[in-house]
Amino acid sequence: MTKAIRIHATGGPEVMRWEDVPTPDPAPGEALIRHGAVGLNYIDVYFRTGLYKTALPATLGMEAAGTVLAIGAGVTEVTVGDRVAYAGGAIGAYATERCIAADKLVRLPDSIDFATGAAMMLQGMTAQYLLRRTHKVVPGETIVIHAAAGGVGLIMCQWAKHLGATVIGVVSTAEKAELARAHGAHHVLIGHGNLPAEVKRITGGAMVPVVYDSVGRDSFMTSIDSLAPLGLMVSFGNASGPVPPVDISMLSAKGSLFLTRPTLASYTSQRRDLLATTQDLFDVVASGVVKIMVNQSFPLADAAKAHVALEARQTTGSTVLIP
Ligand code: NDP
Repeated sequence: MTKAIRIHATGGPEVMRWEDVPTPDPAPGEALIRHGAVGLNYIDVYFRTGLYKTALPATLGMEAAGTVLAIGAGVTEVTVGDRVAYAGGAIGAYATERCIAADKLVRLPDSIDFATGAAMMLQGMTAQYLLRRTHKVVPGETIVIHAAAGGVGLIMCQWAKHLGATVIGVVSTAEKAELARAHGAHHVLIGHGNLPAEVKRITGGAMVPVVYDSVGRDSFMTSIDSLAPLGLMVSFGNASGPVPPVDISMLSAKGSLFLTRPTLASYTSQRRDLLATTQDLFDVVASGVVKIMVNQSFPLADAAKAHVALEARQTTGSTVLIP
């Protein structure tokens, strides 16, 4: 038997139940993993509330690290006993053991423990593709990062500074501002209400070539108004709710702007992209450029408490759930 956090209906954290489920046998192409740690991500909230759809009942969770217990026919990517991690593929990570498509797994370097591995895969790969592919950050640029003290945010601040950017972070409290500053943000704003005016002041009127906005509904327009002509609006999350439909003529009126709504899944659907993304991430973590801040840890059985904290904006950095 395996223990898992499952939902039978969408809703608040109270729909999450700690249940016994039969341990599956790996099908062809799959591996059975015993989880050492599971990552908590905002996307887990979207699946729980029903903003993102899944068949029910469902085991939540997109990310974990652990040990391969068994492999199905035809698996070449990993073998029994390997230390592995993943982010993406079918949901179902909030479990002590699970099967997953083996081509979603990467071997975890020995220097990275399971808690760090589970904390860094989804948020770190996201930071990688946003800074290195969606917009290739170059030295001397000034960029805006929302939720700068969060899981994705703290990784992005450190990495962007390393790439030579001047980072303007946005957070909600003075404590979070301190944390973002300590991890590479050069300027930190508390609240986004004044964002365009502050960006104008900091950039001497030039505005920024890119805004990374994971807050969604509440901050969309202030982000748009902070861009330089031909700037890129990267709307990559919905922490405050989804962005309503956009009138694209607004993009011309505001200076021939670009708008993208990217997902990690599209950037890593090919295995070569997954491996290149994780290699880049492992390199910046191994060299100390990026420190993975695992600032909260909960027993997996208490995942509902972790969701309450995440939605109440009480967490900073990354959070793991321990089976
Ligand atoms: P975070 O640790 O960043 O937590 C979310 C943060 O969002 C909060 O701490 C809070 O920071 C901020 N926030 C702003 N408004 C609200 C609100 N109304 N309710 C709750 N939080 C709010 O989470 P993650 O690092 O897991 O994810 C960050 C974002 O990135 C999420 O929106 C997620 O969906 C997105 N994401 C997108 C991916 C993609 O590929 N598209 C992949 C991974 C993550 P503060 O208090 O400082 O405002």
